[in-house]
Amino acid sequence: MADTTAEIPRIAPDVLARYEAVIGLEVHAQLDTVTKAFCGCSTKFGAAPNSNTCPVCLGLPGALPVLNKHALELALRASLAIHCKIQPRSRFARKNYFYPDLPKGYQISMYELPLALAGSIEIEVEGAKKRIGVTRLHMEDDAGKSLHEGFPDSDRWSYIDFNRCGVPLIEIVSEPDLRTPAEAYAYLNTLKQILEYTEVSDCNMEEGSLRCDANVSVRLRGAPKFGTKAEVKNLNSFRYLAHALEYEIERQIGVLESGGAISQETRLWNVAAGRTEPMRSKEFAHDYRYFPDPDLLPVTVSESTVDGVRKAMPELPDAKIARFLSDYGITPYDAGVLTATRALAEYFEATVKAGAPAKAASNWISGELLRRLNDAGKEIADSPLAPVALAELLAKVEKGEITAASGKKVFAKMFETGKSASEIIAAEGFSQISDTGAIEKIAREIVAKNAENLAKYRAGNEGVFKFFVGQVMRETRGQANPQIVNEIVKRVLGE
Ligand SMILES: [Zn+2]
Repeated sequence: MADTTAEIPRIAPDVLARYEAVIGLEVHAQLDTVTKAFCGCSTKFGAAPNSNTCPVCLGLPGALPVLNKHALELALRASLAIHCKIQPRSRFARKNYFYPDLPKGYQISMYELPLALAGSIEIEVEGAKKRIGVTRLHMEDDAGKSLHEGFPDSDRWSYIDFNRCGVPLIEIVSEPDLRTPAEAYAYLNTLKQILEYTEVSDCNMEEGSLRCDANVSVRLRGAPKFGTKAEVKNLNSFRYLAHALEYEIERQIGVLESGGAISQETRLWNVAAGRTEPMRSKEFAHDYRYFPDPDLLPVTVSESTVDGVRKAMPELPDAKIARFLSDYGITPYDAGVLTATRALAEYFEATVKAGAPAKAASNWISGELLRRLNDAGKEIADSPLAPVALAELLAKVEKGEITAASGKKVFAKMFETGKSASEIIAAEGFSQISDTGAIEKIAREIVAKNAENLAKYRAGNEGVFKFFVGQVMRETRGQANPQIVNEIVKRVLGE
């Protein structure tokens, strides 16, 4: 085998442009259950090593697995959400291989009879929509974790944590319909959004709840056949996915351009080195000797069960966007931002329900609130402002009790202190100044101090008008009613 780990030469853009990539993704998502797939052990992340184990998930002789009903319900919900056809009968098989973190000696996984087939996910890249086929969705259980570093004697020993053994997963396999890293990114992002909306999985990538492998090949544009594919594993963040695909596509084009052939192999994304590398052959087996698990009954799903899951389905992102457009009259862009997560969409709707005008709520949430949450590294669930508190502030701006400029300052204080808009306005005197006498006094002082600009205005330089308005606003710390300031300045300058 050629040394494929060597640094690849950069390939000229015109050469790259002659090729097209063909990408399919295999996504593993942990089902959001309290207990494991086939036993009563907790699935809680971060528990003491090997504390969440029992004879069933450790594969001890004589222990019998029983399918977790809620795990099946979540898998069915995911299947319907991505438009798959649920199979009336599916079956768990044993996928046999040896690895220290797999005490049973096999993984339980649906193989020849998966739970659901033939679905699709619609993605959007740079405004263009595209339907990506989903080949299948099946259920399986997870393996444990080998810990090769982080212990004083890690140079001599590896440690094993079996807590993940038997944690329920679904695997969603796409058709090879993706053509660019950007499409793969959008697909994973859309799928993650759907799984989060339906509460099938928390999709926490740091905790391993969402993992992704990619099948990648390249071919000359217009070529009728797919090229030989390589499987790239360990793409456990959106950044890794994009980088690894870009690297792998360029690597394969480089091999073909230099007259070589792509070998069908499994490769790992090496984060530190920033490249894909072939896995050592002993790290994966070609033959898993699948056979039906004799300890588990086939899974039968009736029409009425499917109907029940369909009826209980929460509103999905696409439907929510359509409803936001028609109910609230906001822009498609804002609807996209506000429905990015179910929690954010619910926050927006609660704000409107508490009395805020929809457009103002949309602007403030997608602008001020998201910016400050982002700066503070917080999620919407941790927002120091409840929807009711934001609605109170927006009502005050709407009624003209405070100016929009003061509103932003009050918002900042609310975000920092968690106090209400009324409390902050009362304490800090942000109330809008609508006292025409006071504003006129300030305006006259400013005009008197700026004789030169006054002369310019009188000579026909209309632009100087803005200067005077700005000065008055500054003098009143942005609290003067802008409309009244405009009227008064115009009058005073015209005298
Ligand atoms: Zn167990």
